[in-house]
Amino acid sequence: MSPPSLLQAHPKLSGTAPNALSYELYPPRTPAALANLWTTIRELESTNPDYVSVTYGASGSNRNTAVELLNRLLTETTLRPLAHLTCVGNTAQELAAIVTDLLDHGVRGILALRGDLPNGAQPQHRPGSLTYAQDLVELIRRVEQRRTALLCAGKVAVGVAAYPKKHPESPSEEHDVEVLLAKQRSGADFAITQVFFHPSEYEELLARARRAGVTIPLIPGVMPLTSVRRLQRLGTLAGVEPSPDLVRALAAADDDGERRRIGVRATVDLARAALDAGAPGIHLYTFNEHGAALDVLDKLQLLRPERPRSVHRQSAL
Ligand code: FAD
Repeated sequence: MSPPSLLQAHPKLSGTAPNALSYELYPPRTPAALANLWTTIRELESTNPDYVSVTYGASGSNRNTAVELLNRLLTETTLRPLAHLTCVGNTAQELAAIVTDLLDHGVRGILALRGDLPNGAQPQHRPGSLTYAQDLVELIRRVEQRRTALLCAGKVAVGVAAYPKKHPESPSEEHDVEVLLAKQRSGADFAITQVFFHPSEYEELLARARRAGVTIPLIPGVMPLTSVRRLQRLGTLAGVEPSPDLVRALAAADDDGERRRIGVRATVDLARAALDAGAPGIHLYTFNEHGAALDVLDKLQLLRPERPRSVHRQSAL
């Protein structure tokens, strides 16, 4: 007789897996924005997310504020930061030094991105620079390998971007999936998606990716859909069309309260559809504001692991 499977023997391992939860923040540009951000950080911290990601200006312009924010998250909160890093704006040598520095400060998660090219520029291989996110994944893995002994407390989690709708420079959605597969082969552990506005877009990405052999978790990046201006701006930047019905409903709303109710409902529907399609969790683009993000979270009722409530290590505000 064969021994019982691990899952049968341990009821806690069977049943539905908990959902991952994470938020995106960006480094603040002014002292007032910094103070607001810390209110948001404390509110988000109380929801016990798995990690918070910190964006990186494509030109490396906000490098110091990004590193400062990552360090403060590590030393003053219980949150685990995921550092975004881009090929654009840095040489390979500089990137290796930044990765080393991040690891030395205790960062254990990096989102490896190419970054947006300056207006109208074409991707091109420059000696000493990295062309694609895949190259950055490989560079991170090389730095990690050199520091294996120092990292014995855990490996570095490397994330990459995935696109429910075609990347603006890409010839097709199939090509995007080939790129995602290449990033996985180079050592990516998971992917976070670009914003999307229609439930079927995530489901179709998941189906395309799994057919092509992508096995890593694809975490839907969901943006609280409460501002027409932001919807349209992000839609243009990412090359995705917001739902005209939602834009109309938000534009016709009488006040901010009604806009928030409409937007939160639409966001919850989108996130719920992604979870029903098999998403392993949700990554919320917060724009450094916690109100709508927490409303969405409240209504989504994610299945989360039970963890002891942690007390802040220190509040230096
Ligand atoms: P890549 O995967 O390198 O793809 C870029 C383009 O090149 C695509 O069209 C792809 O099809 C093509 N391509 C890739 N590899 C190959 C290959 N081997 N051969 C031929 N073609 C190839 N930008 C920032 O500046 N800072 C941020 O903090 C930031 N955070 C982001 C977070 C998320 C979750 C997402 C989804 C995007 C983020 N971006 C950020 C935007 C991102 O930098 C842009 O979307 C950028 O245009 C592409 O980045 P990528 O990592 O997907 O690049």
